[in-house]
Amino acid sequence: MLDFNCTLCDLAVSRSQIVWGSGPIPADIVFIGEAPGKHEDLGGLPFVGAAGKVLDEFLAAAGLKRSEIYITNVVKCRPPNNRNPHSEEIEACRPYLDAQLEALSPKLVITLGNFATQTILNTRQAISSLQGQIQQAEHFQVLPLYHPAATIYDRSKIEPFLAAAGTIKSINIANHHS
Ligand code: URA
Repeated sequence: MLDFNCTLCDLAVSRSQIVWGSGPIPADIVFIGEAPGKHEDLGGLPFVGAAGKVLDEFLAAAGLKRSEIYITNVVKCRPPNNRNPHSEEIEACRPYLDAQLEALSPKLVITLGNFATQTILNTRQAISSLQGQIQQAEHFQVLPLYHPAATIYDRSKIEPFLAAAGTIKSINIANHHS
């Protein structure tokens, strides 16, 4: 189902490669970011740049290893100059995200930033009003968080972002797939 020559949107023209995601399949916990940046576009893996370092801090605080979770983005190709993904691009890429979620069968989906949160929860609500508050979707729970990159630009966001690691520990997601 993954088309390695995908041309469903214009990002096909400027990308170096498609960044599908990384981690075990299935996975109890899935993180969804926005779109690959420069490092991800070059390396082929999600969250390997500065935002990835912040995500690693969150994982450490939650007692999770990258090898235990799946990480992907709403849009699988890098938007030029890291601009925001357009709604047509998110829509075009949606079948991939849906197929991934079906295969991954997560208990908890952690949405990073406005684009992932609004896509998964089908809402226009801003992340600032949802950050850290568990939501119930049809097949899994959702924990919306600030985008890790936003915590770099706005240091006031790092404290609530990392504090949400405790929320993961408080919900029962152990051994769903093992
Ligand atoms: N890297 C990613 O893979 N996704 C983002 O949203 C940001 C950086």
